[in-house]
Amino acid sequence: MYAHVIVDIAHSSVDRVFEYRVPEGMELALGQRVLAPFGRGNGVTEGYVVALSPDCTYDPQRVKEILRKEDPFPAFTAEQMDLAKQVAEVYHCTMSEALRLMIPAQMRGQRVREKRIPVARLVMEGEELETLLAYTQRRAPSQYATLEMLAQVQEIPSGDLYAICPKAKSGLAPLVKRGAVVMEEKAVRRLPFGAGRVVRDSAPPLTEQQRAAAGRIAVAMEEESGRVFLLHGITGSGKTEVYLDAIGRTLNRGKGAIVLVPEISLTPQMVSRFRSRFGDTVAVIHSQLSVGERYDEWARIRRGEARVVIGARSAVFAPVEDIGLMVIDEEHEQSYRSEIRPRYDAREVARWRCRAAGAPLILGSATPSVDAYYRCVNRGEMELLTLPSRIGESTLPRVYTCDMREELMAGNRSIFSGKLSELIRDRLDRREQMMLFINLRGYAKFVMCRGCGHVIKCPHCEVSYTYHRGRNGDYLRCHYCGETIPIPSVCPECGKAYLKHFGIGTQQVEEQVKDRFPEARVLRMDYDTTRGKNAHEKILGRFQRGEADILVGTQMIAKGLDFANVTLVGVMAADSALYFPDYRSPERTFQLITQVAGRAGRAQAPGDVVVQTYNPDHFAIQHAANQDYAAFYREEILNRKIAQFPPFSVFIRGLYTGEEREVLEAARRAGEACLSLLEQRGIEPLDVKQGPAPMAKRGGEYRSHVLIKLMRLPGLETVLDELYRILEEQDRGSRRPVVEVDPLSMF
Ligand SMILES: [Zn+2]
Ligand SMILES: [Zn+2]
Ligand SMILES: [Zn+2]
Repeated sequence: MYAHVIVDIAHSSVDRVFEYRVPEGMELALGQRVLAPFGRGNGVTEGYVVALSPDCTYDPQRVKEILRKEDPFPAFTAEQMDLAKQVAEVYHCTMSEALRLMIPAQMRGQRVREKRIPVARLVMEGEELETLLAYTQRRAPSQYATLEMLAQVQEIPSGDLYAICPKAKSGLAPLVKRGAVVMEEKAVRRLPFGAGRVVRDSAPPLTEQQRAAAGRIAVAMEEESGRVFLLHGITGSGKTEVYLDAIGRTLNRGKGAIVLVPEISLTPQMVSRFRSRFGDTVAVIHSQLSVGERYDEWARIRRGEARVVIGARSAVFAPVEDIGLMVIDEEHEQSYRSEIRPRYDAREVARWRCRAAGAPLILGSATPSVDAYYRCVNRGEMELLTLPSRIGESTLPRVYTCDMREELMAGNRSIFSGKLSELIRDRLDRREQMMLFINLRGYAKFVMCRGCGHVIKCPHCEVSYTYHRGRNGDYLRCHYCGETIPIPSVCPECGKAYLKHFGIGTQQVEEQVKDRFPEARVLRMDYDTTRGKNAHEKILGRFQRGEADILVGTQMIAKGLDFANVTLVGVMAADSALYFPDYRSPERTFQLITQVAGRAGRAQAPGDVVVQTYNPDHFAIQHAANQDYAAFYREEILNRKIAQFPPFSVFIRGLYTGEEREVLEAARRAGEACLSLLEQRGIEPLDVKQGPAPMAKRGGEYRSHVLIKLMRLPGLETVLDELYRILEEQDRGSRRPVVEVDPLSMF
């Protein structure tokens, strides 16, 4: 038997597959990690078996032999091997790159393995044990104390034993000598933050709406048809309880489940609900785990000890065998798309896995992406489930839209509208909590000279600096490359001292709140205040315990948080994302306002939301204020149809970064090659742009792109594949081009 082994999975961007002979008597499976001799010096390398065959394509005399298996079980399941092939094909990457997604870093060449600790185990029993107990009680008190302890617990890590029973320090060794106790090395699980003791709860009765949705999912489970559901539930309607019900059924059927959330550190409440319901069978994977913790959770899943996996995007590849359900919460979030190679979409990968397993897939959101809703309602690719009202006594908040132009004309120059000031004062008096949302960290958006109109920009990037307040004075920082400079005293362009900052950030909101409401206790949550490990949990925990009245934050505070005492939400600048030159700006604006407004009034107390805007008549803001998704969708899908934007068309983009002339040349060549291919295929593109990207420079590197817009017609997939290859071929510099279909950003 011969094995095809892929080596150097961690570093190589090309697949390096070699043939080896399988030694007599060695049982090998696909996906097995092996050690094999490699290269001229026959050094030892690690590799993975990707194919097995009875024949050899080389001279059998010269084929080397596999040295040994690394693990008792294959690192990849058979299903994952198939999945990797599909990922490699669809997202144009190598098998190595695809396989890398499915194993923790330790198995890609690093040396951290299971953590092993010494454990003392009692092996004596019955009469023999009683005799020894009686004997040591009289003659050896420390041995007696140790033995008594072990008789209760059978086995215990020796460190814990010494802590509980200090006499064991002298008592344990003689007991080992007598053969009453053996010392063993055991793998232990490093418990990630938040794990450990949880209070178990049981399922509450479902509401009628929840029961209807859960019932449809249960039917799909029985059918094993791989049905996809779009669960559209307004904020506070209890989507999570529908997920929990479906997971419970999945476990009862002896199958496993994967639940994806946008960012796990922002959803500690959801994780603890899962743990309370299902206990230790829940594994949590997220970016803040240490490498060791990550390995342990992976191994628990791989061994089948954990059957429910919760994690962010990459958990879509978790080695759960016999998948019975997948859930993607907050389906509309961009974080489900990978920003690095392979640029996969976790929603699409989940669809493949569920289809192959015949398992239902639930996409849940209060604000479904236009794309998903279109596929569901207009194309019938998914079944729509709706939760149209909030659970319990809770009602949707009252929303006030405040026109900041009118405020300005009435002489209010502050960042708070009259209504917001009034309501903040009211909540402080009633000792209720508030959230103020602003989609920019720092103090101000940019600095401009009022003399000549010059905006101070980062020299390395084609963007303006953001104004920050610092402990040692204010400074300007580039949010793309991190470049930081002191605030200039005069305009670098005209030399006049007319510099002024514009646009508000979280620091300014925090400062103004403290200024205007000195008694208010304020917490700020943004990228700058959450860099330490578990910093999110700490801030959210303090707010939860009522240690602050007001939480100021970026979109971090818009996601899935339930605080019973929050009865006021202020959207400080609803338009901040509206005039971003991207066809998705109205959609993103609608989603953000709706999500953040949904944080108000989650329990018995009714909530208020103040939306501050300079565009009170814009449809995205109006429909968000009315919390009316259907109306927003009707208007938005019509706009897209008229303007021929996705889902009616598709964008493909090749982005080239590096030296200015080289990248311009690469984009020009790629653009020409694409156009001639389209001509050959008889396809008229809707739009073609080539040349400097809108952000023409970033981190000191020049950026040029080719952006092609095509009508979505049958047979498009093949053409997209061909264009993809052409765009990726223009690789002359050191940096690989970034090729994306429906790019995350057009900049
Ligand atoms: Zn100037
Ligand atoms: Zn920069
Ligand atoms: Zn393709």
